[in-house]
Amino acid sequence: MSGLLCGLLLRRAGWAVDIYERVDSELSGRGAGIVAQYELIERLRGLGLATDELGVHITTRKILDAQGRLTHEIECPQVLTAWERVYRLLRDAFPPDRYHRGRGLAKFTQDANKALAHFSDGEIVEADLLVGADGIRSTVRQQCLPDVTPRYAGYCAWRALIAESTFPPDVHRELFAFMTFGLPPGEQFLGYPVAGPDNDLRPMHRRYNVVWYRPADEMTKLRWLLTDERGATHAISIPPPMIRREAIAEMRADAERLVAPQFRQVVRLIEEPILQPIYDLESPRMAFGRVAVVGDAAFVARPHVAAGVSKAADDAAALAEALQKEVDVEIALKRFEAARLAQNHRIIERARHLGAYLQASRTQEEQARAGRHSTDAAVIAETAVLDFLYV
Ligand SMILES: Cc1cc2nc3c(=O)[nH]c(=O)nc-3n(C[C@H](O)[C@H](O)[C@H](O)COP(=O)(O)OP(=O)(O)OC[C@H]3O[C@@H](n4cnc5c(N)ncnc54)[C@H](O)[C@@H]3O)c2cc1C
Repeated sequence: MSGLLCGLLLRRAGWAVDIYERVDSELSGRGAGIVAQYELIERLRGLGLATDELGVHITTRKILDAQGRLTHEIECPQVLTAWERVYRLLRDAFPPDRYHRGRGLAKFTQDANKALAHFSDGEIVEADLLVGADGIRSTVRQQCLPDVTPRYAGYCAWRALIAESTFPPDVHRELFAFMTFGLPPGEQFLGYPVAGPDNDLRPMHRRYNVVWYRPADEMTKLRWLLTDERGATHAISIPPPMIRREAIAEMRADAERLVAPQFRQVVRLIEEPILQPIYDLESPRMAFGRVAVVGDAAFVARPHVAAGVSKAADDAAALAEALQKEVDVEIALKRFEAARLAQNHRIIERARHLGAYLQASRTQEEQARAGRHSTDAAVIAETAVLDFLYV
């Protein structure tokens, strides 16, 4: 997404852009919904893209206690969409002949006049500017900042998408049109509607996105969760079909004990859950001569602020603006970095504060944050809103 956003915005600013994507096949969503923040919608509109059918519109958030009783309710209008929907919009707007699939960057070199992208197939491409929009395991960032690595946050998310048509009518009535939270001690359960397959927004064709954040100590529980049926332990994440049956059975049994009866019925509908360990990543720099890093390559926030894609769009817009105002690429990149570093650090820090109470272990400072951000009133008002950026 960062690559496409940069590509589209830089083309608008008069640059000739080529995008190189390592994956050979067409990308597809990792089965999760995203909140289409107002800021992202504005950026998409600015690119002339149609945003009227971007996702499911909701107006209300709720909290249910373990007995299924409503404890809080607030108005919070938002658009909830699926990764594929936004990706498709961007991908279709970018010239296909300049989007090169199956081309992995191995390393780059640069001098005062050019950057050289060295691909794993041996080809070298010369450019005025190289943008590393290559995600959390960025090759570009690892070359520029080898000490900056993702840090495990101390908890994981179980995620799933469930077909709307499978919901029992009473659960559908109570949950489907809302963003609804459950707050077992030290945990967070969250559900909301998103588009169905092929961005279908028709009633009964949509899906319900479930996320359940649960603490998991890195050395014991996380290792167990990332160890598959054959005993192999995976690094960072585990493919859904390889998650061991005991781990899924434990999650299902815990749901029967810990969450509202309405959520228990939802968990019973999950076919193949996804397990996502949560990480923080923060870079001290984003500009390196004629090379820049953007989006998740530079900063990864925990999901509670729902800023991943809008932060990527803001990086791309700042990059295009800096390059429009300044012809010297290195100076422009320094200005881009100055425009984005502080805000990206704020987003990461805010997400860390909101997630502190979910961690398996906490420092004293994190303990204080956990107290502030774990109350029902705080969770319902602070999750997935970007207001904090403007105060
Ligand atoms: C396939 C996919 C599905 C996703 N689904 C969801 C979702 O459902 N919900 C959600 O909230 N977020 C999802 N995300 C994450 C979300 O897109 C990001 O948080 C946000 O868009 C900003 O990330 P990014 O574009 O900077 O990095 P990423 O989204 O990680 O994209 C980086 C891209 O760079 C490519 N790449 C990596 N290394 C190289 C290399 N050396 N050479 C060339 N290419 C390389 C990767 O294949 C990838 O396509 C998904 C990401 C991907 C890639």
